[in-house]
Amino acid sequence: MASNKAIEERVKALVAELLAEEESEGEPRNINDIEDSMVRIGDMVAREFGVQKLAAITSQPPEDPRCPDCGHAGEPLGKKTRDLITRRGEVPLTEAKYRCPKCRRLFFPSDGAVGA
Ligand SMILES: [Zn+2]
Repeated sequence: MASNKAIEERVKALVAELLAEEESEGEPRNINDIEDSMVRIGDMVAREFGVQKLAAITSQPPEDPRCPDCGHAGEPLGKKTRDLITRRGEVPLTEAKYRCPKCRRLFFPSDGAVGA
């Protein structure tokens, strides 16, 4: 990941862009409005970071995932999307779902990678 300094510069540019748009709207602002915006924008950035990082991890499931119970090769059952609850809100997680033909267990090989 980029250094904190590099990220800070990009955040400054993004905020300047948002503020420029906001000024054209001409709405009155007080400290409560400003703080609400701080939290909202922070949560949006954090959430999007989570969405993209999780998508990168789950888009590459193992080639031949094994059943966590019996070790038999799993059969692919397509993808399933669920919402992870994070400290910054819900983040969608789409992952490959498998079924063990031997013991019938359903499993998601990405569970270990995302710790969910
Ligand atoms: Zn099994």
